[in-house]
Amino acid sequence: MPSVTLPVSTISQSLKGSKSSVPAVTVQDTSKRDIIIFSDFDGTIFMQDTGHILFDHHGCGAVRREQLDEEIKTGARSFRAVSEDMWGSLNVTFEDGFSIMKQKLEIDPDFNEFHKYCIANGIPFNVISAGLKPILRKVLDVFLGETQSAHIDIVANDAQISHDGSEWKPIWRHDNELGHDKAASLQEYKTIASSESEDGSIPMIVFVGDGVSDLPAAREADVLFARRGLRLEEYCIENKISYIPFDTFADIQTELARLVQEDQETTHGSGKPVQYNPRANFWRRASSKKAVPTLSSIKSSATPAPATGNTFLPVEPAYTPQATMVS
Ligand SMILES: [Mg+2]
Repeated sequence: MPSVTLPVSTISQSLKGSKSSVPAVTVQDTSKRDIIIFSDFDGTIFMQDTGHILFDHHGCGAVRREQLDEEIKTGARSFRAVSEDMWGSLNVTFEDGFSIMKQKLEIDPDFNEFHKYCIANGIPFNVISAGLKPILRKVLDVFLGETQSAHIDIVANDAQISHDGSEWKPIWRHDNELGHDKAASLQEYKTIASSESEDGSIPMIVFVGDGVSDLPAAREADVLFARRGLRLEEYCIENKISYIPFDTFADIQTELARLVQEDQETTHGSGKPVQYNPRANFWRRASSKKAVPTLSSIKSSATPAPATGNTFLPVEPAYTPQATMVS
């Protein structure tokens, strides 16, 4: 019977750092496989992009923002360089900037219910974003309430925002052109998960996203959900990456329940998940326990994990990735 302590302790530890009153997430049925969900924020949990709302109303404006976005798409400049220009164009206090976001943001209509399902079933749900953590936390606090928000760990860039709002500066998680390499962060979590597992049980890693910046992390997941009709889905089709489309988080909840049942019937929660990405196993074997970072070191890390060949299987066993990610 697999041990289930790993992701629970990992997430609980992280929550202790931010909200001491949050009860630890516990898994009720120890025969079930652990599931860890990582989700993009902008365009995935919320239908709009928090940065775009701010830039359009209090910064460079929509026209200039679209020009800058084009520079990322064409590869003329890096995501990080362009993002620094966008955030640097803001001149608004955090509080005033939040007022416009509160007006304009729409949460996925079924996210709240889905997240309650995760809490009830002991499934850690983490946000992984190229955005700025203080903004994301505030948005979650307001839309979900602080108690529910505190169950969500946020892996994103930090920020320095001057009191008068004249200076907004991202503090990037990784020292590379992405600023935050979501694939590296996911790998770091998986290292912790495998190193702390005492019986070799392997958690099922689920990723939810919508955009181009999600593709590197999507390749690291065992199960990938892509918002229907957006760029992540297009890339998955172009690159023959296995994915499940969704319109709202209710679709994800339904599919997840089905996958859990399928996995339970087939593996009884031990060994590899039914939906298994062997690239992750290769990476786990290459990692030594000694090299495993602590969660706190992950959060403050300025160095990305070593690059590895990405292959998302099992749908296309001979697949070699071709896409180069810029945003
Ligand atoms: Mg997105």
